[in-house]
Amino acid sequence: MEINGTLINYYFHCPRQCYLHGNRLNLEDNSETVQVGKAIHEERLQSDQSEIAIENIRLDRLTREYLTEIKKSDADVEAATWQLLYYLKILKSKGILRKGKLEFAEKNKTKKKVLFVELTEERERELEEIADRIKNLINSECVPERLDKASCKKCAYYEYCYI
Ligand code: SF4
Repeated sequence: MEINGTLINYYFHCPRQCYLHGNRLNLEDNSETVQVGKAIHEERLQSDQSEIAIENIRLDRLTREYLTEIKKSDADVEAATWQLLYYLKILKSKGILRKGKLEFAEKNKTKKKVLFVELTEERERELEEIADRIKNLINSECVPERLDKASCKKCAYYEYCYI
């Protein structure tokens, strides 16, 4: 499987989630959390038809200055940040230079949290190392250990991991 933004996000959130997704065990459509995420995404799209796709990447919003990604919560900022950096790197490879903006549109909160990220040469190098680590992880014969965190209850793989 090619490295993509979802795998990068999962790698930071939980290596086991990354491994399972990378090996095409997809249980996500049944997850309530994923459904909530999609609902927020679709609601936003109805009011702002600016989503675009480049190759297999769906970008939430691209302006002259920013690539903006919308997340449903700020529970895993590191994962969201690296996913966005990966998208910025893909854009850069196509000659499109942008800064990144993360918007966390949590349910029942009127004020959005916004974070800005920038792709530096050092982060580009780190992304390459991360991509290599993800490939090794996915090709490994061993399934990584469970996280055993409260956040597992919101994960699409909860039943697979714990029941
Ligand atoms: S349920 Fe927990 S351990 Fe299992 S894949 Fe999800 S986050 Fe990882």
